[in-house]
Amino acid sequence: MSRTNVAILGLGIMGSGMANRLLSANFPLAVYNRNREKCIPFADAGAFIASSPREAASHSQIVFSMVGDDAASREIWLGENGALQGASQDSILIESSTLSGDWIAELASKASERGCRFLDAPVTGTKPHAASGELVFLVGGSPEALDAARPVLSVLGRDVLHLGPVGSGALMKLINNFVCGVQAASFAEALTMIDAGGLDRATAVSILAGGAPGSGIVKRMADRMATNDFTPNFALHWMAKDLSYALRNAADKGIRLQIAAAALSVFQQAIAEGHGDEDFSAVSKSSARRSTHKL
Ligand code: NAP
Repeated sequence: MSRTNVAILGLGIMGSGMANRLLSANFPLAVYNRNREKCIPFADAGAFIASSPREAASHSQIVFSMVGDDAASREIWLGENGALQGASQDSILIESSTLSGDWIAELASKASERGCRFLDAPVTGTKPHAASGELVFLVGGSPEALDAARPVLSVLGRDVLHLGPVGSGALMKLINNFVCGVQAASFAEALTMIDAGGLDRATAVSILAGGAPGSGIVKRMADRMATNDFTPNFALHWMAKDLSYALRNAADKGIRLQIAAAALSVFQQAIAEGHGDEDFSAVSKSSARRSTHKL
């Protein structure tokens, strides 16, 4: 049986894991990355190295984009030699980056003008899950397009969840990440309070991580602090991006996400202090602003 030709556009932390996974499952794979150096290991592993997103898409029946933000996605799909120019009408275009609802709606409409099927399918899980095919896909789009893409998605993910029409996956992902961001920011503020109050950090952190506040996010941050390793699995600047997209999406619906706004300012402070390219857990290194007035 012939296998589906797949393209991965974007070989960052997540895209590279996904590409390796597809190669291990013997899918014919085309890859594109803006910085071509990141393509070299994939050429050695048998992937076709495309010189543009357009060329990668023209070789493929299923095209994934896994890039940083709205601007990167726009460049990949609609830029000079963008993927949409190369996509054939029977192809399925899958945007797996975490992006804003506005941009996903615009991209879906451009894909439809081109006659292509489109899914927004952002993921939960991080670097090791991308590498081991244990992502969870949060999918928006037609059930028919999802059914056609499912054999490939199933190689990359342990779960593929259909949430509704185009945009539903992107919305769910922003909600998911703003809740994660809020937990991370509040844990960072708790650390400042622990230090200012002279409590033993290790004891205090183990009480929080082992008790009711000990969510997956808090546990991950506690582990990172224990090993003092902030190499990014999920870069801190992307968490700030997700919080800002969630705020904008909510504002468009007339909703004020007060806690997400506060969390964003904690992440912005961490970026200003030089932690943006570290793992999001490095927000724990940023000191909370001191209030000048008493409540
Ligand atoms: P990353 O390691 O920073 O990789 C970003 C990718 O985007 C790189 O391939 C980069 O290309 C490309 N890119 C950036 N700007 C571009 C532009 N203007 N034109 C073309 N390509 C551009 O990010 P990541 O961690 O893989 O995350 C990718 C997406 O998945 C993000 O939306 C993120 O929020 C989301 N996500 C990440 C995780 C995680 O744990 N890491 C989990 C779930 C979702 P260059 O190499 O040329 O810079």
